[in-house]
Amino acid sequence: MLDCKVSDWPISYLGLPLGGNPTASGFWNPVIERISRRLDGWQKAYLSFGGRITLVHSCLSHIPSYFLSLFKIPASVAAKIERLQRDFLWSGVGEGKRDHLVSWDAVCKPRVKGGLGFGKIPLRNRALLGKWLWRFPRETTALWHQVILSIYGTHSNGWDANTLVRWSHRCPWKAIAQVFQDFSKYTRFVAGNGERIRLWEDLWWGDQIFKVQYPRLFRVVTDKDSPISSILGPVRPFSWNFNFRRNLSDSEIQDLECLMRSLDSMHFSNSASDARSWSLSSLGLFTVKSFFIALSQMPDLSPTFPTKFVWNSLVPFKVKAFVWLVAHKKVNTNDLLQLRRPHKVLCPDICKLCMKQGESADHLFLHCSVTLGLWHRLFQLAKLDWVPPRSISDMMLINYKGFGNSKRGIVMWQNASIALIWVVWRERNARIFEDKVRNSENLWDSIHFLASLWAFCSAVFKGIPLNVLQLDWISVCSSNGTI
Ligand SMILES: [Zn+2]
Repeated sequence: MLDCKVSDWPISYLGLPLGGNPTASGFWNPVIERISRRLDGWQKAYLSFGGRITLVHSCLSHIPSYFLSLFKIPASVAAKIERLQRDFLWSGVGEGKRDHLVSWDAVCKPRVKGGLGFGKIPLRNRALLGKWLWRFPRETTALWHQVILSIYGTHSNGWDANTLVRWSHRCPWKAIAQVFQDFSKYTRFVAGNGERIRLWEDLWWGDQIFKVQYPRLFRVVTDKDSPISSILGPVRPFSWNFNFRRNLSDSEIQDLECLMRSLDSMHFSNSASDARSWSLSSLGLFTVKSFFIALSQMPDLSPTFPTKFVWNSLVPFKVKAFVWLVAHKKVNTNDLLQLRRPHKVLCPDICKLCMKQGESADHLFLHCSVTLGLWHRLFQLAKLDWVPPRSISDMMLINYKGFGNSKRGIVMWQNASIALIWVVWRERNARIFEDKVRNSENLWDSIHFLASLWAFCSAVFKGIPLNVLQLDWISVCSSNGTI
């Protein structure tokens, strides 16, 4: 009658499907489609490994975020998206199957733990959902708050919505309520006038709630739910208004003394109302990032990773990405190729640089006589005595300070070391695939030039001409921009 189009659930509202079922994988099709569409757009472009890392970071990880901030993603859909990311990272699109050099679990770890910081999608999802739990007690006048409140009621602490959501239906709140257990680990209450915080059952003082800290007292106290203000008088010396079911035993009296003493340094401010703070950020405010990092933290068993050496260096990103692979010892050296494709021996398992020993990452980038000669040359230039360490990742971890401890000195040393690794790898490839051989003198010149060029392009060496930079690294690094 009104000449409107008759439609059906689910409809799309503000870019999100309304009335659909987020636990069904079809619900997530638009997200998957959008990601594969993006990948198709890049199909023809030539992208380096470094370029692919950047793209996975900037796009693929963030496309689903809008959906993830409201709905819980089913495990199967998360796995599908991660597979898209994984395949794109390791192969680019349309290049056929390639090796996944580093395991996806390692890749997803934060950079300080040796990963690329992609993060697992289900964890990102939980961190995003946590935001609603933070906003709930802060937006009491908002319509959405009223709706949730009227459906689910409140939590016994009077701040949060009831997290015991029994009926299973399509409202996203059920999934959000499930995050509460993790979320509440990182929140605490900050007492103002003490009217909204429960003395025994809320975490507001010390590391544990009083109920857990003083279980014997809690058993005999009559008003277990009382707010702080009804028990503690606001001014010093505090008046205490505990009610116990019976006379206290000697040990209970000791507990009570202990509790009272622990509150000695407590300050109430009558003018401020009680608040809740987020313990993972310095301002006490919730951030998705801090929650996400906390959720991703797993027991750390992996050996230390040279994060600073790899990521703080001022070299082109594709070179950084390559050095990251070297630090994981996951470049395609012969020893690894033999493991992966025993049926397809590309060339005899011998290092093309020295033609003597087998090729491995530690050999090629450190112990090979040709490479060792280049390292020696670098240390000679820095006038440093040196004993080669056990492995190439140790080499990256040790802070040599070859060109001094200044910002410039550190940058130049990293540039030179990375240039050396890069040049050695390119020489190895040139010898295998193009049958071209350069001598050590040529290699050293390339290293020297590349390290100088990268330094020249960075802000730290701003204003210094390239030829001056190339002439004398040590004096350039020890001076402070006054050349
Ligand atoms: Zn060798």
